[in-house]
Amino acid sequence: MPFSITHNAHVLLQPVRNTSPLVCSHTNCFNKKEQTQNWNGLKFIRRNKLLKDLSTWGIGGPCNYFVQVFDQSQLVSAIRYCHEHSVRYVVIGKGSNCLFDDLGFDGCVILNRIEFLERKETGIYRVGSGFRFNSLGMQCCTEGFTGLEFAAGIPGTVGGAVYMNAGANGQETAGVIDSVDIVTLGGKLQRVSRNDLKFGYRSSSFQDMKDLAAIVAVTFQLQESTSARRKQREYLDRRRMTQPLGERTAGSVFRNPSDKEVAAAELIERAGLKGFRVGGAMVSNIHANFFVNTGGSTSRDMLNLIAFVKEKVDQKFGVQLKEEVQYFHPQ
Ligand SMILES: Cc1cc2nc3c(=O)[nH]c(=O)nc-3n(C[C@H](O)[C@H](O)[C@H](O)COP(=O)(O)OP(=O)(O)OC[C@H]3O[C@@H](n4cnc5c(N)ncnc54)[C@H](O)[C@@H]3O)c2cc1C
Repeated sequence: MPFSITHNAHVLLQPVRNTSPLVCSHTNCFNKKEQTQNWNGLKFIRRNKLLKDLSTWGIGGPCNYFVQVFDQSQLVSAIRYCHEHSVRYVVIGKGSNCLFDDLGFDGCVILNRIEFLERKETGIYRVGSGFRFNSLGMQCCTEGFTGLEFAAGIPGTVGGAVYMNAGANGQETAGVIDSVDIVTLGGKLQRVSRNDLKFGYRSSSFQDMKDLAAIVAVTFQLQESTSARRKQREYLDRRRMTQPLGERTAGSVFRNPSDKEVAAAELIERAGLKGFRVGGAMVSNIHANFFVNTGGSTSRDMLNLIAFVKEKVDQKFGVQLKEEVQYFHPQ
């Protein structure tokens, strides 16, 4: 496989290949017909949930377990369930930076729906990690605060944006974080202050944090501004003109090379690859670093297209592109 997410400690747990039959009790009830299991108020769907429905690329087979969590205690319960049953797991938001495999995921996908927003003091927002990042950006600018103008148009969650240190237009998520509340692998809640976190271009301490189970909530500190909304409209207009927004994509496939002046999109375009296809996967004609599922793309098509583009750019310019999208190995 060309790339993987080995930095995620919580997906390194050994998967259970043959799950044992489940027993019906007050807290643990398995419904064979619906293939669901209720456990401590959570509903786990077994083998029926398709990952293509959880990712903006629209690619991916079934996961072994699927559960949605709406608050912190449900998240902790879901993680506890996975530990107790030795099931590896991953927490996702909108799947807007994910490539799932057609074989699915032999583990539990925890869909984060922790969506609260609290206004603490002037310019201080504490937000659930499942809150839409796009909506947060719009709301803050409309209320007269600067720092998250770029978030409008990013179709992820706050948790995904912090984990990836999402950014655009010279702004990034890290620039306005005050603190991050996380759940550890042991199920403990911890508040990590901004000073104890490291961020880089599309990278955050969370990507290497051995003890991280999930980001639960984030506190942002923003400055007042009268021009935030106007700037945001300009960014959105530019996005509409330069990105294939109506198509099934996962944003930029590759990071921009750190030591070069030139963007990944420009290298791909100069290699003559705009519009290049492998099966149902295609390099966008509008933005060369966006790859489109034109309908029916398999994960294999997308992986082969990614590998092909990397090879061509390396051959032509001697630049080794690195993936920004996160690939989830099925096992
Ligand atoms: C049209 C389009 C435009 C885009 N534009 C931009 C852009 O301008 N700038 C940019 O940076 N990105 C952009 N993206 C990429 C993507 O939207 C961002 O990376 C976004 O922040 C991902 O959020 P998500 O909730 O979808 O995360 P997911 O894709 O669901 O997950 C991404 C990673 O974060 C981890 N993760 C998610 N939530 C949590 C959590 N609560 N706790 C722990 N780990 C978590 C996942 O396990 C996974 O490894 C774009 C994507 C699209 C489709």
